[in-house]
Amino acid sequence: MKKVAAADIVIFGGGIAGLWLLNRLRQTGLSVILFESGSLGGGQTHKAQGIIHGGMKYALQGVLTADSQAMSEMPERWRQCLLGKGEIDLSAVPILSSQHYLWAPTKFGSKLAGFFAGAALTSKVEALPTEKYPTVFQHPAFKGEVYSLDEIVIDVPILVRELVKANQDAVFKIEPLCDEELKFDDHGRLVSATVYMAGKSIEVTAQQFIFTAGAGNEVIIKKLKHDEVAMQRRPLHMVMVKTPFNYPLYAHCLGLGARPRVTITTHHTQDGSTIWYLGGQLAEDGIDKNSTAQIHAARQELQALFPWLNFEEAEFASFMIDRAEPKQKGGMKPETSFTKVIENITIAWPTKLALAPKLAEEILQQIQAAPITPHLFDVRELRSWPMPPLARPVWEDVFCKSVA
Ligand SMILES: Cc1cc2nc3c(=O)[nH]c(=O)nc-3n(C[C@H](O)[C@H](O)[C@H](O)COP(=O)(O)OP(=O)(O)OC[C@H]3O[C@@H](n4cnc5c(N)ncnc54)[C@H](O)[C@@H]3O)c2cc1C
Repeated sequence: MKKVAAADIVIFGGGIAGLWLLNRLRQTGLSVILFESGSLGGGQTHKAQGIIHGGMKYALQGVLTADSQAMSEMPERWRQCLLGKGEIDLSAVPILSSQHYLWAPTKFGSKLAGFFAGAALTSKVEALPTEKYPTVFQHPAFKGEVYSLDEIVIDVPILVRELVKANQDAVFKIEPLCDEELKFDDHGRLVSATVYMAGKSIEVTAQQFIFTAGAGNEVIIKKLKHDEVAMQRRPLHMVMVKTPFNYPLYAHCLGLGARPRVTITTHHTQDGSTIWYLGGQLAEDGIDKNSTAQIHAARQELQALFPWLNFEEAEFASFMIDRAEPKQKGGMKPETSFTKVIENITIAWPTKLALAPKLAEEILQQIQAAPITPHLFDVRELRSWPMPPLARPVWEDVFCKSVA
């Protein structure tokens, strides 16, 4: 006999978008389950630098829209959660840095101050006296200036662990969906999805199906044949540096262009190594380079920006990753989170980790506008299914291969 399961809402994809939403939806009393085909957080989420952007990065690019204004509310919303007072209790998630910094390698002086005034975000930016600089810049050879931004940096792997913690009974591992496994009725409503794991299958029915599968959303979009929604990939070539020194740094470097020349965050491996994780323009420009060339470019950039540090002994590694997003004209960066509702299916991308709360709020509002009456909840057949593992941080995988 065919095995079946039922819930009010089924989510596919256990990155930040799916996990935040799972927590919020379960608060409403609806029955919700989440399927993950890889590891929890193991898509883009674990590769994020963990910066809870407040819109400054976009202001730097000259884009100060209502959406970047909405983004400026994100740090405070996250802060409330991190204090245990927000919509989800994240009080166990470490704040890696209570501020993100912006540094100019040479003196910009009034030019920079003028820019911030123009960007109407002056209150969010503070020019720092030397003694408040991050330690790496407290060196006589540093000739630039440093600003603090109203942005925090969080520990993403622990964030994922905390979002999963209270939901272990609702998260199941599956194999990736193939084409035949979605059953629609005559009105185009999704009736059921058959999911597979280790030779077993279960047909899952639900009133709403939500796809927060990151790059995996592409498969479902093809199946829907709906041309109002399409996905784009914007690749990055990120670099990790196991440094021989311990300077915690969370900062954008201001370049000549609109984008940060390099964005550096700092992470620690279980064996105590300090990792500088490099993104920004360096990662955007590196997409056509092989790993050797990208690491060479990163070495040169770091040596140019920190001539007083010696990177000879540092270990470098790089990897490519796509940002999966709703398609934009000319492949541009989307400004905000995205949801598309087609009958009882929602396709969603947060486009930024920081925007996951906003995305979940939008989906909650859509559900409240056409309320769901709780129906049958039956996951007996899923009880023997495995839980997806939590992803390992990418720096652990690369630099601490022996630690399980
Ligand atoms: C290098 C990098 C750095 C970034 N830094 C930041 C930052 O500092 N701050 C910030 O705000 N944003 C940042 N971002 C953006 C942020 O990481 C992403 O917007 C966010 O993580 C996307 O989350 P998601 O849940 O949509 O996707 P993902 O994290 O990719 O999760 C999707 C999940 O779905 C699963 N899946 C796929 N197909 C299926 C299927 N058929 N069935 C079930 N599960 C499936 C995948 O295994 C995966 O676990 C960064 C992105 C990158 C790439």
